[in-house]
Amino acid sequence: MTTMNFQPIFSKPNKRPILVAGPCSAETEEQVLSTAHQLKATQEIDLFRAGIWKPRTRPNSFEGVGTVGLKWLKRVKEETGLKVTTEVANREHVFEALKYGVDVLWLGARTTVNPFSVQEIADAIEGMDIPVMIKNPINPDLNLWIGAIERIYKAGIRRIGVVHRGFSQHGNSQYRNEPRWNIAIELMRQFPELTIICDNSHICGNRTLLAPVAQKAMDLNYHGLMTETHPTPDTAWSDANQQITPEAFGDLVNNLVLRSVDSDDEMFLENLDGLRQQIDLLDDDLLKLLGARMEVSRKIGEYKKENNISILQPSRWNEILKIAQHKGSEKGLSASFMERYLQAVHHESIDQQNKIMNK
Ligand code: PEP
Ligand code: MN
Repeated sequence: MTTMNFQPIFSKPNKRPILVAGPCSAETEEQVLSTAHQLKATQEIDLFRAGIWKPRTRPNSFEGVGTVGLKWLKRVKEETGLKVTTEVANREHVFEALKYGVDVLWLGARTTVNPFSVQEIADAIEGMDIPVMIKNPINPDLNLWIGAIERIYKAGIRRIGVVHRGFSQHGNSQYRNEPRWNIAIELMRQFPELTIICDNSHICGNRTLLAPVAQKAMDLNYHGLMTETHPTPDTAWSDANQQITPEAFGDLVNNLVLRSVDSDDEMFLENLDGLRQQIDLLDDDLLKLLGARMEVSRKIGEYKKENNISILQPSRWNEILKIAQHKGSEKGLSASFMERYLQAVHHESIDQQNKIMNK
């Protein structure tokens, strides 16, 4: 695909991030309107969200009020002047949402994952001038996320934004959906003009982590936040554990520390430059050492080949990992970093030895 030229969905607000807020689901007309009015009264936002059709993991959960909720969103627009957005997952959703004047469409994580669904939506909006936000797919597959962006772009949509809501995982985690920040960072690197919003609600799954995750997104230069808000979060019909009141949302936003990308303070820039030079030199040293390590590894490969010994020796690998994690912790390096680092080095070693063995 040739380079994509995106246009912004939002005009950049002054001194605060782009804010998308509103309930997980539209439940009743009263709940939707009171959320919107309370938000309007406590915190300036750019877009009001509410799910009308809800993709739920298990059947018999609340699956959204359907089309009737679109009338409530229309009232939100009329009474508050806020722009509104909802999730669309098929052609009918698109047509219904547009009929009721929804300003921005969003693709949910379970839609981005499926190219057939994404294409169906792309075909439905072909040639229209409607902004679209695309959530990351539930699985940590950057190309699937990019593929969805490309499908929507090919339909002629230029106002595209992405929403990082974290990725499903197996096993225990403090998050409902692991953020895996590196995937979003790589997306930003490849598409620097794309607006990126952090959905801290679906990453966290609970209220306690919302603020630190939002802060981390700000520190990584995300453009905005999408946060689920509800007048009485505990009684919400979906995602009760992670929703907060409009007032708590206002506090969360006000407590964010916003840092600038650049500075023109010369002293600061000079010091920063010095530190960066040190990093560059250390990176060079690390590379030299890694090169030397691989050379030894290749020698071992030759040696194993001559003696007809297999490459992989799991007992040795476990031993190396344990020792490295211990040594790493003394240097302030986390066990998970040590594991990822050693795994990368180990895989490269195995690849190189494999080439030698099969030469
Ligand atoms: C939502 O925003 O309420 C939602 C269903 O999100 P996701 O697609 O990220 O699970
Ligand atoms: Mn939700």
